[in-house]
Amino acid sequence: MTTHQHNLEKYATLALKKGVNLQREQGLLINAPVEAADFVRIITAKAYGMGVKNVHIEWNDEMVSYMKMKNAPLSVLEDFPKWKVDALEGMAKDGYSILTVYGPNPDLLKGVNPERISKATKASGEALSSYRDYLMNDKVTWSIVAYPQEAWAKKVFPEESAEKAIEKLWEQIFKITRVDQDDPVEAWEKHNETLRKAREFLNQKQYKRLHYKAPGTDLTVGLVEDHIWHGGSTKSEKGVEFNPNMPTEEVFTMPHKYGVQGTVSSTKPLSYGGNLIENFTLTFENGKVVDYSAESGEETLKHLLQSDDGAKRLGEVALVPNESPVSKSGHIFFNTLYDENASCHLALGKAYPTNVKGGSTMSKEQMDQHGVNDSIVHEDFMMGSAELDIDGETKEGEFEPIFRKGQWAVEFE
Ligand code: ZN
Ligand code: ZN
Repeated sequence: MTTHQHNLEKYATLALKKGVNLQREQGLLINAPVEAADFVRIITAKAYGMGVKNVHIEWNDEMVSYMKMKNAPLSVLEDFPKWKVDALEGMAKDGYSILTVYGPNPDLLKGVNPERISKATKASGEALSSYRDYLMNDKVTWSIVAYPQEAWAKKVFPEESAEKAIEKLWEQIFKITRVDQDDPVEAWEKHNETLRKAREFLNQKQYKRLHYKAPGTDLTVGLVEDHIWHGGSTKSEKGVEFNPNMPTEEVFTMPHKYGVQGTVSSTKPLSYGGNLIENFTLTFENGKVVDYSAESGEETLKHLLQSDDGAKRLGEVALVPNESPVSKSGHIFFNTLYDENASCHLALGKAYPTNVKGGSTMSKEQMDQHGVNDSIVHEDFMMGSAELDIDGETKEGEFEPIFRKGQWAVEFE
């Protein structure tokens, strides 16, 4: 077996054991691009080896998606098929674990009318909202792992040949997900332990607000009452421990949908719906974006913000030290799964109900009263840097340093 083949095997094992934590006699749904067929077969073989009852693959082919997005009648793009919703919801309802193999071309839809993209995204967002609830409420175990295909790899390593770019991207992925270590499963247990300490510290503090200062950023983010910080592994409704993202370096919680004030500037490009938004600034008043601009992709940003009311408000606040393995790699990945783990970030759109006590059982009205944001979108954007300072404001109104120059200013016990 070549080293690469050996690493792929380890990566598949890691995704099943520490990612979705597959249990005997359950089902497994894999969302994957056709380029990842070899890898998906390795995962499938292992899953059956672990006693799974069924593996279902939802294949996607970017070129086919592109053709549809470019050519299909708008009415088709606006009508997400019910049979597909039923199938996905059916599997989630039956307790399937959901593993997404992810590595899209960040420029796939360049040149496609953003209006068509936003209508299609809106239609799928609405149609799949209860399916997404299974994931965002941790009713099932789910995980996302990356797989480098040519267009993505070439975006990260534009100076290399396609073959070399893919090889280099794999090298980064194996390193950052700890697959290159002797025992990645054990390495992840240790890593989860570190993140557990950070989130327990913040859970105990129950800061009322976070204050962000960096060049182009002066922002206050209120946190909802009884917020819960998550990070690293989490537990499903049935008590199965899993890691929703691989890699993951963040601890994150819930901003108050009406409690955000000031201006924030992005520090990395945001790839949204096949288009890049770069060097953008958002200004918030009472939690809502009231002004925005972008050096490029402003039209795409506008469509993102106009998806619905909740798209103009925040649904996640995440802390990531600037010295994380992803940022140490020195690369911009043009892929949220990687870039979000290199940088403190915020998300526009839907909040994770698990980030507040009792969030999973709140009615829409209760959510709103509590400051829990709801939307058909959830888009992380990066705003961390080596110049970012963050203070936590206690309930008594005292300020305590949390981050200085992009690094934790706190020692965890
Ligand atoms: Zn995040
Ligand atoms: Zn997020």
